[in-house]
Amino acid sequence: MEIIEGIHRIDEASSNLAHSNVYLVISGKELVVVDTGMSGNAKKIVHYIQKIGHQPSEVSAIVLTHYHMDHMGSVKELKDVTNAKVAVHVDDADFVAGKKPFPKPKNVLLRAVSSFIKPTPVDVDVLLNDGDIIGDLTVVATPGHSPGSIALFDAQRRALFTGDTLRFDGTKVTGAPEQYTWDSEKEKQSIQKLSALDFDIMLPGHGEILKADASKKVREFVDSQRKT
Ligand SMILES: [Zn+2]
Ligand SMILES: [Zn+2]
Repeated sequence: MEIIEGIHRIDEASSNLAHSNVYLVISGKELVVVDTGMSGNAKKIVHYIQKIGHQPSEVSAIVLTHYHMDHMGSVKELKDVTNAKVAVHVDDADFVAGKKPFPKPKNVLLRAVSSFIKPTPVDVDVLLNDGDIIGDLTVVATPGHSPGSIALFDAQRRALFTGDTLRFDGTKVTGAPEQYTWDSEKEKQSIQKLSALDFDIMLPGHGEILKADASKKVREFVDSQRKT
């Protein structure tokens, strides 16, 4: 589904258990995929790209907002069919590439699950840093949810992809559940950093897309956190 001109949410791909969002950004002649969902999604993503009249080979980059398996699950399959470059923040790259074991989740159930479900690692082609530009998107480093979590800011479309750092449940903006968070203090600072940006639309890794007054709602969330 096209959200605004040039930004699509690939709905077919989010019908998995973890229900994470997969986005496609059309930057001129280049297509950029933001996150890939759980494993087994590559076919659905390719099908969507073809349905809107593009070719999988036009995908120039697959950007991961962080290394968690509900976002990188299909990155290897998708890279194999598109030949796109995989771009990840430098501080999450070794997890994505399988060079470093994942930090142990705090949640006991999650720890058990993650010991037997492991996403397929993939070589990282582009190491991202704060301020880097990829297509129409500017990288905003937002460590906290994971060491190398990023947001992606599209200044022209006034849209912000927040990964798991912020989500919208249809009513209010929240952070990710604490048990999935690597460093809550850093995450708080990163959310403050995002609240200083001006954007209308927020495109989170989970939940609903916030289509109006997004940065205002993020600021309200930050204020409510200060009071508690
Ligand atoms: Zn996550
Ligand atoms: Zn997630």
